[in-house]
Amino acid sequence: MESNPSLLLSLILLWLIWRAFLFLKKEPGNKPRNPKSNPEIVCPTCRANLSIEKMLDASVCFEPGAIVFDCPDCKDRIYFSPYENHIEIGRLGCSPVLDPIPFANSDYPENFKMKSEIKNGVLQIQVAGKEWRVPSVKIFLEESRSKAKTIKPRAENS
Ligand SMILES: [Zn+2]
Repeated sequence: MESNPSLLLSLILLWLIWRAFLFLKKEPGNKPRNPKSNPEIVCPTCRANLSIEKMLDASVCFEPGAIVFDCPDCKDRIYFSPYENHIEIGRLGCSPVLDPIPFANSDYPENFKMKSEIKNGVLQIQVAGKEWRVPSVKIFLEESRSKAKTIKPRAENS
């Protein structure tokens, strides 16, 4: 049997790539690389730490399944979805309708309790005695449209 030098070389190369891959994987602070297993809630754009209260403070509007808010740090318009056992956070696609693109899932803080109900298109959320009111995306769009109408161009010729 004749040994094949090119096969041996590619095997060595593969081994080197594998070692480099393992080395890179170990790098920054043993943090999980997979964003899907993020224990903390972080902004998908700037990675700032967020809490449910912070996200609600910055909320803009809601649609069933997603609460849209502006990141307090980078001001990017993103969303979170409170599911039964986890919170999903993600970006919004460039679309006239709400188009959530999931980024990561996080666990609720321990002993976390949230009450919510929708009244006349306004979502009322209570967390630890604090209440937030978030308008539906429909109400929000109508409001911003009427606001845009009230801002008239300055010098109108008569
Ligand atoms: Zn951000």
